Amino acid sequence: MPSSTATRARSSTRPSGRWAHCERASWRGGVWTEPSRRRSRGFGVAEEDVAFSAARASEPGGAVSFVDGEWREASGTPIAVTDPASGEEIASVPSATAAEVGDALDAARRAQREWSRLPATTRGDHLRAIAGVFADHREALADSLVREVGKPKAQALGEVEFAIGFLRYNADWDRRIEGEILPGDVPGEVIHLLRAPVGVVGAICPWNFPLAVLCRKIAPALLTGNTVVAKPSEVTPLTTLHAFRLVAEHAPLPPGVLNLVTGGRETGAALVADPRTSMVSFTGHRDTGKSVMATAAERLTRVSLELGGKAPAIVWRDADLDLAVASIVDARHFNAGQVCTSAERVLVHESIVDDFTGRYVAAVEALRVGHPSGEVDVGPMVSAAQHRKTSAALETALREGATVLTGGGTATVDGYAGGYWFTPTVLGGVRPGMSVMTEETFGPVTPIYPVADLDEALAIANDSRYGLSAYIFSRDYGTVMRTVDDLDFGEIYINRTLGESVHAHHAGFKESGIGGEDGKWGLLRYTQIKTAYHHFG
Ligand code: NAD
Repeated sequence: MPSSTATRARSSTRPSGRWAHCERASWRGGVWTEPSRRRSRGFGVAEEDVAFSAARASEPGGAVSFVDGEWREASGTPIAVTDPASGEEIASVPSATAAEVGDALDAARRAQREWSRLPATTRGDHLRAIAGVFADHREALADSLVREVGKPKAQALGEVEFAIGFLRYNADWDRRIEGEILPGDVPGEVIHLLRAPVGVVGAICPWNFPLAVLCRKIAPALLTGNTVVAKPSEVTPLTTLHAFRLVAEHAPLPPGVLNLVTGGRETGAALVADPRTSMVSFTGHRDTGKSVMATAAERLTRVSLELGGKAPAIVWRDADLDLAVASIVDARHFNAGQVCTSAERVLVHESIVDDFTGRYVAAVEALRVGHPSGEVDVGPMVSAAQHRKTSAALETALREGATVLTGGGTATVDGYAGGYWFTPTVLGGVRPGMSVMTEETFGPVTPIYPVADLDEALAIANDSRYGLSAYIFSRDYGTVMRTVDDLDFGEIYINRTLGESVHAHHAGFKESGIGGEDGKWGLLRYTQIKTAYHHFG
């Protein structure tokens, strides 16, 4: 899910006069105060200290929940966070209990009406202020992502830019949300269709883009007048804690508007099951999404589900092969292949499959695998569990008859013996029904399969439970249009690598999700239509 700009990790200049847009008063502790008098009610974190001290979360009394404008302790089971490059534990973060999740929801409920009554421009100003703070701390936030996700620094910087993009883009909707006015059915009547917030949004995030997915959810939710209880993945909670400390210290919101609880499955399940949650915005695994939906169904809680993918990349006989190879190598190995939009299977016209495969293997062998803080293309996988999952997928593929063209599983990197390294691997000898062609691998393994014609390519591509992203490489207009028309996928990349734009729409068909995020349609999903019949005749 990296943005197209994110993949290129631009060095952008710092915005000047970053407080200029926050000159409006802010609501603190029930009192409106001028910006110069703002103080965080959280524990005072010196700016340099905010470059996240992982130890802080592990310290006795290290507060990990941000509720009602202040830091609180969570009393549930602590969960270890590891450095993927070394396998060493770097923090232990307590989980919020169901009661503590309830406290956060109570705070969010109390704050919601007041927050929704603010002018939308004020809510937009808050988002712009947060964006400014994240921009000022982009290096530290990126370092935090490198440390806990294991993504190369350039990609981590790209994720920070992507997160900032969500905040700024949604802030710019502050004067653009419109209702409708209809004539009534009877004389002397007019009907208003108004966009109302949904209420309290539970924002549940995965580990592969902790900051970007957080901002993808909180920015539209807050702009439209909802309040939020966010939960990061237990695998990568540190960047989120870091981001909340920055917000609390430098761009505080009214208490209760944006709350944080840490923890894993039980904490997430409590957030979904609680009747105080009006909507669950979830990004994660397909099976978790199904369980979220089943729980939410008990109270008809609204859900938005962004789930997994099994993106096909179709390379046609007239494709620009240099472009196709470079794009698919990038789309398969970005974040060590742990991306929902990653090119998971490659379908190549049989007339060029040998040429393509030779070039692809050479490009994969040229990838630099190493410590993510260095100049590398591929870092470690995020966790031992994820490494095991991808290794098992490879073993199954080999058992089913696939052959290794390069790579082959666990790698070693000097000085980091305990890290979760995986050699980028290319497979031949695959067949359409094999699990490596149907199930999400979520690691740097590329199966290549030759196809005879476009009908066959499209049939194999669509023969999947997933329908998130797909790729087509062709210079022929008819081939491209036919492919776009026939693919049952929500997001199609034509002659390019992965990377959504904040103002487009990111949504999976079939078992890749329900709802969709980003752009106008993603924003409006955090609203509901209220109808008012004005009878004056
Ligand atoms: P996951 O489903 O294991 O966890 C996601 C989040 O859900 C975590 O915060 C976790 O603690 C929480 N959770 C777990 N069980 C829960 C439950 N029963 N109720 C509520 N919350 C629960 O997913 P992951 O391993 O963190 O992420 C990888 C998956 O996410 C992949 O399948 C990937 O394709 C998908 N993903 C999709 C998108 C998208 O935009 N479509 C983006 C990123 C990742």
